[in-house]
Amino acid sequence: MLRRGSLCAAVLCVLLCLCACAQPSCSRTVYAMDTVMTLTAYGKDADGALAAAEAELHRLDALLDRHSGSSAVASLDRDGQVSSRELADLLIRAKALSSLTDGAFELTLAPVIEAWGFGTDAPRVPEDAELSALLPAVGADRISIDGEQIALAPGTQIDLGGIAKGHAADAVCALLVQQGISSAVIDLGGDVGVLGTKPDGTPWRIAVKDPADGSQHIGVLSAADTFVVTSGIYERFFEQDGVRYHHIIDPATGRSAQSGLVSATVICADGTDADALSTAVFVMGAERAHALYETVGSFEMILVTDDGRVLYTKGLADSFEPNRESGYAYEELA
Ligand code: ADP
Ligand code: MG
Repeated sequence: MLRRGSLCAAVLCVLLCLCACAQPSCSRTVYAMDTVMTLTAYGKDADGALAAAEAELHRLDALLDRHSGSSAVASLDRDGQVSSRELADLLIRAKALSSLTDGAFELTLAPVIEAWGFGTDAPRVPEDAELSALLPAVGADRISIDGEQIALAPGTQIDLGGIAKGHAADAVCALLVQQGISSAVIDLGGDVGVLGTKPDGTPWRIAVKDPADGSQHIGVLSAADTFVVTSGIYERFFEQDGVRYHHIIDPATGRSAQSGLVSATVICADGTDADALSTAVFVMGAERAHALYETVGSFEMILVTDDGRVLYTKGLADSFEPNRESGYAYEELA
């Protein structure tokens, strides 16, 4: 069975410390995008700001969920075209991220994901022929955008599961700032955003979950004004004949990515980039991801390999504290 346990289980990063402090704080749990989300803000207007943030999350869910009949994405997938300025802007960014990652991040995998039945109660392993027939319709170049007009080539459908929460995290943080909030933490289930510092002026501390045991962590990140997004294969998968099939697809094969990684965490000042890159880095594996890191230069990452190593980039040398009791071997990527 596919473990759709996207509830609390999908929260890949946990916050160690939402300290008690002088400033009033307010928390809210929101269910959107198939995920339980937790929003915490500090300051006297925190309650109103979080109400606005919740409304924004539901609005974005209604725009981007391809399974909700009235959404812009559902219309696009059904009719092959739609007009939406907001969706066009997001797709322009998604296409750029696809090209930056050499197609590892790929937003046109919807028919392939559907063939596998990920996200349904009846997942299955498609035949080779079925996948080969679907792959020609995969490719970000099959999406054309002219102003707010979006069109898909025949057979192509989009799925924004690898980027929607990151985009939502950016939108919510921007909205909180607009509402006068300067200290907040949002956890959109594996996509964490921290605004400012803790109210006492010290950095937020974000625990990165151990992919082998969600109650443990592999280390703690100190961070301010940043997004920390994890893609992992230990929440959404199914098993058949002893083989584990998970929901992060290698667009080159149409099958679960086999890159030697079990989780990829990306740390970046932009939530949309962090989300797409975490998925892409997972598909690329450590070596290609490191080459991407050297080229792009605007993100950091923590990778967990299937042979028990935690690899982290050099920009994290001062902000990532490995948990030496976790049993993993830690290596800073040179
Ligand atoms: P999570 O869903 O756990 O937040 P990700 O951000 O990595 O994890 O997104 C995985 C989702 O993205 C899948 O459920 C699917 O909808 C979509 N997806 C799968 N493979 C890819 C890929 N190679 N590129 C972009 N999106 C993908
Ligand atoms: Mg992602």
